[in-house]
Amino acid sequence: MTDRSTLIRRVLSVSSGLILLGIILYLRGGRAAEPIPTVREIAPGVFSRQLQYRSANQTFVVFDDYVVVFDPGEVVEVRGLMDAIRARTDRPVRYVVSSHFHPDHAAGASVFEMEGAGISAGAGGRFSYEGWARNLFLRRVEEEETGFSPLQYPRFTFIDQPLILDDGNQRMEIRHYGHGHTTGDLIAWLPKHGVLLVSDVSNNGPLNLANANIASWIDVLRQLLELPVQTVVPGHGERGGRELLEMNSRFLTEMLALVGDMVTRGMSYEDVLAEIEIPFHEQWTGVEVRANSTNVLMAFRAVGGRLDKEN
Ligand SMILES: [Zn+2]
Repeated sequence: MTDRSTLIRRVLSVSSGLILLGIILYLRGGRAAEPIPTVREIAPGVFSRQLQYRSANQTFVVFDDYVVVFDPGEVVEVRGLMDAIRARTDRPVRYVVSSHFHPDHAAGASVFEMEGAGISAGAGGRFSYEGWARNLFLRRVEEEETGFSPLQYPRFTFIDQPLILDDGNQRMEIRHYGHGHTTGDLIAWLPKHGVLLVSDVSNNGPLNLANANIASWIDVLRQLLELPVQTVVPGHGERGGRELLEMNSRFLTEMLALVGDMVTRGMSYEDVLAEIEIPFHEQWTGVEVRANSTNVLMAFRAVGGRLDKEN
């Protein structure tokens, strides 16, 4: 039997250990003290749901008679979005717009389809939606507990014309500006509020160039900067203003120029990957450019670089 003072000492030592653990966990949480996801009304009737960086941000816009969702999101995030909508309005979700085929933006759309919404996607991305993205969805729902069945891959309607929604109070212009992050990128502009839903054409953090046309992407950003943009909702990370478009453009421009110069000097892909540094990118995102070898390879190819085995 333990005597009383030993017991008290043990309780104290366990509780001080727990307090220390709590402090460490709190400090490791850093500036993420604000709970995520957050849902903010960033303009009248325009709600942005921000998630952890690995998940795409979701937006919904409340019109007089219906709701429009831009980027329904990943299968495990879409129900949270639906709850957020239902907490604010009982109007039906009529349109769901998928910015591009990457599953963190598009795969959950069928939840809204079952409620009668039409799912729109850019025609340029059709091949990827019906191939790579569908296959990944089927594999995931068979191997993981997503709550989805294989039959629930969304039925996208592919549009090759701008989709303009205007009821006199809200106006939403959904357009394809060119091949940026992917071939079929759709971007939504809300001119009454100066709000741009840009998806992964501008992230507030590391970019993914795996399906990009970098030179065309820079041109897309040039076009977007001609709009009187006040608020940018990025594909991932915190909202910002026009500077987000400028930072994404600066990174892509520096990347292309630097890798172009290296290739002109005859450097191989391996050497480019070993030497590339863009201090601006590291300051902005906290990540070294070379940490994403696919991005470096895409830039290498974009400036005409060829791998050794291709020469
Ligand atoms: Zn993406």
